[in-house]
Amino acid sequence: MCPNASAQDQPVLTPTSTFHFACGDTLPCFTQCCRDVNIYLTPYDVLRLRRSLKIGSGKFLAKYTRHFLARVTNIPVVQFDMSPDTLYCKLVTRDGCSVYNNRPWACRMFPLDLASREGEYQMIVGSDRCKGLKEPNTMTVREWLDTQGVGPYEEMERLFHSVLPPSFKPGAAMDAGLGKLLFLAYDLDRFAEMLDNPRFRAFYELDDELLRQVKEDDEAMLRLAFRYIRSQMDELYQVI
Ligand code: SF4
Ligand code: SF4
Repeated sequence: MCPNASAQDQPVLTPTSTFHFACGDTLPCFTQCCRDVNIYLTPYDVLRLRRSLKIGSGKFLAKYTRHFLARVTNIPVVQFDMSPDTLYCKLVTRDGCSVYNNRPWACRMFPLDLASREGEYQMIVGSDRCKGLKEPNTMTVREWLDTQGVGPYEEMERLFHSVLPPSFKPGAAMDAGLGKLLFLAYDLDRFAEMLDNPRFRAFYELDDELLRQVKEDDEAMLRLAFRYIRSQMDELYQVI
């Protein structure tokens, strides 16, 4: 999530840093954090959201996101496509988030975001915009993240990052074909179609029991997609 307020001016926080915060529907800023922000989605965010909405990944990506390969690096970028007239997230209602139990990682972390170094965090808004930062309630960064259920999101994102070859340097250019391969992790419907192909299954020696598991378990499907992407990356990264 990246609101207009500058994160550069904010101090770096660690998991044990404390801050004041409480959010609620009685605050005048209620749902303002769901408006006019850039919210980047991870593959696991997409999985949780489209499952919550009971639609396929292709339909979710088409209806709720802007997605493209980043210029130069060709890394896939997937972000919420805000309503063009109001700039609100398409999933917000007068009562708040309509997918609260499956809201994305960035929404769970708000008003925090990851800082540039691993294990460090930053506030991404000030108390002028997010009035909850003026509330007396105090907590550590770790306590906040734990209560927001970010653990599975962190774990899946670690796995997603591990599909990149060890020799890949962040920010380095990648072939567009590899960017499209990475995008498979966001569009699991397409990966499921590949699994329906008997020749694909035979080539990758995917047995019936594994296929049964992944058809019944979205998380298992995402983990298998990560494994497949990783195997292709290992083969193609040095070649292309
Ligand atoms: S307090 Fe902050 S997080 Fe809560 S509704 Fe207001 S802007 Fe959003
Ligand atoms: S997903 Fe929910 S919390 Fe996140 S911006 Fe949309 S309405 Fe707000």
